[in-house]
Amino acid sequence: MPPRELISAATIAGRVAELGAEIDRRLPAGPLTVVGVLRGAFMFMADLVRAIPREMTCDFLGVRSYGDATVSSGVVEITSDLGAPIAGRHVLLVEDIADTGLTLGYLLDLLRARGPASLHTCVLLAKPAYRHSGAPLDFVGFDAPDAYVVGYGLDAAQLYRNLPGIYALE
Ligand code: 5GP
Repeated sequence: MPPRELISAATIAGRVAELGAEIDRRLPAGPLTVVGVLRGAFMFMADLVRAIPREMTCDFLGVRSYGDATVSSGVVEITSDLGAPIAGRHVLLVEDIADTGLTLGYLLDLLRARGPASLHTCVLLAKPAYRHSGAPLDFVGFDAPDAYVVGYGLDAAQLYRNLPGIYALE
């Protein structure tokens, strides 16, 4: 069965514009380092940084948590580290989706240990499991259903990343 559209490209664009303005309003003044989690967040980050009217640098963390399966392996592996230190910087971590929150929790610990001036998180999608975990998320694009979603950077076995909206795999 083909994927079923959950969130259109136009709806994403509207929400990303809101998120950018909200982030700029709420984060401490000064230059930012925006850290995107590869590969799923690449498209979201590309749009989000254009909606944040501030001086910033962009960096990326390569992470593998699921392999090519659609269930959490429970293991987070850093496949490529940041290009520059973040000590003393205001850091915004940008992730595609929070499910169990394992990946985000691990990455926050990793980045916090490097002494940023501040550390905030922005996810495009939050699944019910994460909402129920009570763990903090600073900025959330949309609540996602408890289904496997693809598109707008998110994959299933590396496919579907180029879909402009968010879709559920049936
Ligand atoms: P967590 O550690 O929160 O359980 O899972 C986070 C990671 O799992 C995300 O960064 C993402 O790579 C992957 N993930 C979780 N749910 C989905 C989903 O519905 N679709 C896709 N494509 N990836 C997911």
